[in-house]
Amino acid sequence: SLEQLKCIGCGIPIQTDNPKLEGYAPPSSLEKEDVVCQRCFRLRNYNELQPVSLSGDDFLTILNGIGEKEGLIIKIVDIFDFNGSWINGLHRFVGNKDILLIGNKADILPKSVNRNKLVHWMKAESAKLGLKPVDVKLVSAHRGQGMPEAMEAIDAYRKGKDVYVVGCTNVGKSTFINRIIKSATGVGDVITTSHFPGTTLDLVEIPFEDGKAIYDTPGIINDHQIAHYLDTEDLKAITPKKELKPKVFQLNAEQTLFIGGLSRFDFIRGDRSSFTIHVSNALPIHRTKLENADDLYNNHLGELLSPPSGESLEKLPPLVRHEFSIKKPKTDIVISGLGWITVQHPNVVVAVHAPRGVNVVLRPSLI
Ligand code: GDP
Repeated sequence: SLEQLKCIGCGIPIQTDNPKLEGYAPPSSLEKEDVVCQRCFRLRNYNELQPVSLSGDDFLTILNGIGEKEGLIIKIVDIFDFNGSWINGLHRFVGNKDILLIGNKADILPKSVNRNKLVHWMKAESAKLGLKPVDVKLVSAHRGQGMPEAMEAIDAYRKGKDVYVVGCTNVGKSTFINRIIKSATGVGDVITTSHFPGTTLDLVEIPFEDGKAIYDTPGIINDHQIAHYLDTEDLKAITPKKELKPKVFQLNAEQTLFIGGLSRFDFIRGDRSSFTIHVSNALPIHRTKLENADDLYNNHLGELLSPPSGESLEKLPPLVRHEFSIKKPKTDIVISGLGWITVQHPNVVVAVHAPRGVNVVLRPSLI
């Protein structure tokens, strides 16, 4: 039966149900004598790592294993989903290892965003969440921006020891590691999957010349990530592909903006004012009166107000209202996984409605 099948590359039990989970092999491949999981297949044939993901418990087992090792931990976050891509409790497992925090997807930041301010904010948020990275680097794993600097930093901070890369699903961890693999020389033979002592999970090992290695860990599925509530189509729509084009709205009090049907912004009190929306260019913004907003949402979710659409309509948790009284000029309201709204003028009262579990926080504007 299927349960007995194991990948001849890494030994993981083969499953044919979920391409995103470890041990996946397409059903057609089971006809062959030697079954290789998709991850090993791609690694062998294309030198390309595939993302795999795990639920919390299995991941903690891995973290426990890493806790006993020496080396540098690279934690990758999506700068658009800082809170959604945060791994809670990592500090309990790092031992005395340093953590280098990498903020990925820098290519979609508009030019108006001050990179130093973003790095500063990431440091401050990390500290709030109990982690003190040795350094924070911004990269685009996809386009390559910042990668040479990140690689230099890795080399400096690892101090001749191993490197463990951790991150939630969807932050671009595989893209990041694939870029490192491609930039390494003679990649063909050097990459091996290796069994990690103390766990049943196989980490991919990318050797350094000094006998040490970079280890990729499976991505953790974080329930708070808005991405997990959306089907593929909707996920495409919220995921910015290109540099964001900020959209400016002049609003009077008692007006509402809908970001698709995923979030809602109410301008409750204050003088006529301008608000700049930073979300994927593919997300439609809809303006209405505050008094009509509930009806519009109840009657047109999934149609006029989409995404969500299709499957996501059932999966998406209900919206929760977060009210803010903003006293300072130039404040961002960050909706994790979606983007942020820059409130230009002070002394306004606003409310953001976002799916339950999705983090909504204020920060000084990055502009
Ligand atoms: P993993 O689950 O963390 O391994 O993430 P993947 O490497 O599979 O990437 C998740 C999604 O983010 C994919 O749609 C990638 O195309 C996208 N992505 C990864 N890196 C970048 C980047 O630097 N910039 C942008 N814009 N998208 C990225």
